[in-house]
Amino acid sequence: MDDARFAGQDLPSAHGRTPRDRTPWNTVEGRVISLVSRKGGVGKTTSAVNLGAALALSGHTVLIIGTDPQCGVCRTLGTVPLELPSSLNDIFAAGDETPGQNLTDLALTSPLENLYFVSPRIITLAEEETYLDNLGNRAEVFIREVDQARQLYDTILIDCPPSLGPATRAALLASDSYLVPIQAEELCRESIGALLEFVDAFKDRTYPHGDHDTATAPPAPLTLEGMFLTMASERTRMGRHVAARVSEEFGDLVFSAGVPRTTRLSEMALRGKPAVIYDRRSPGSRAYFDLADELVNRYSSGTGSSPSLIDDMIASMSRSLAGEPLAAPAARPETVYQEPQPQVPEAQSPEMVSLDDLLAEEENRGGGRSDEDWEEGYWSGDFTGRDRLN
Ligand code: ADP
Ligand code: MG
Repeated sequence: MDDARFAGQDLPSAHGRTPRDRTPWNTVEGRVISLVSRKGGVGKTTSAVNLGAALALSGHTVLIIGTDPQCGVCRTLGTVPLELPSSLNDIFAAGDETPGQNLTDLALTSPLENLYFVSPRIITLAEEETYLDNLGNRAEVFIREVDQARQLYDTILIDCPPSLGPATRAALLASDSYLVPIQAEELCRESIGALLEFVDAFKDRTYPHGDHDTATAPPAPLTLEGMFLTMASERTRMGRHVAARVSEEFGDLVFSAGVPRTTRLSEMALRGKPAVIYDRRSPGSRAYFDLADELVNRYSSGTGSSPSLIDDMIASMSRSLAGEPLAAPAARPETVYQEPQPQVPEAQSPEMVSLDDLLAEEENRGGGRSDEDWEEGYWSGDFTGRDRLN
């Protein structure tokens, strides 16, 4: 990385939208969306960065907040934690002497004009521990800082770690909604059900006294923006099977746009060159543009999920897992702040689709497209069962 990259950078406070403008969502303040999953390697970070870049190229002023101590966001944008001039850790005061800094002053520029990011800077295990302690015990600082950033950014995407620990919890408390990437080569409905159940505990969140004016601006319920397939492949029976199953299971909650598995996306992520920024025509980039469009369109047409829809889904999943009707849901907490303590149920005998079986079946049948066909084909984006490969 160029050492001088961040020197004298134009901070978003000078270049972002002014608080008076309406956002492309047609809202007064920016929207905050977390990318969440319990699993690692499903494409959260790749999606946060490429979706963020697609939104930035569509006119949004975007802030990506990496919360994963692995610092995936900064690596995907071509830098390493050691070289970050400012980091998410700095929002927390280090003792009485050094007060915490504003998130908006910590944002760093990216290769795209409208795209900014903040990442933790974590080198040692002790730093990771302090960082996670801060997010866990002082989540209100993070929530307040993200809230203030809504004034300057149209869209704030929070990339979560692959766990439901302090960083994911803080992210959900600060978010309007969340997006769930589903890796298309494995379908484990119990794992998604457990995730929805976990997130459900944040639906009626209220903030600690003094840090958020709940009287004038009560936080709106956290909604599920939707789910989308990542690393999808229609070449294999497995890929088609998973796409069909996800669509059957989650209906309208699944985005038509899905991200194909392409070597271009993985190579670029490895080299810190997000495809949407450096290769806008590749199938992977186009998928992220489609996803960005669909995200905005669904929001403006009100097709997103409602909390009751999630309730229904959790109830129906639990019923079908247990093979019997579900008991009435427990009463929700009142207005007092409660740090959510969700119980993540262990997946019981997960109903996994076996990759080996399906690949073996595919091989026996022969056929399928070549890699070249695939890489050059354009997925027009509908992964829910209609034709899409041109
Ligand atoms: P997560 O943040 O959920 O752990 P990542 O975004 O880091 O997942 O992706 C995990 C790995 O998969 C990375 O090596 C990334 O380059 C690769 N990857 C992500 N999306 C795709 C895709 N659509 N096609 C091919 N490889 C991908
Ligand atoms: Mg990641």
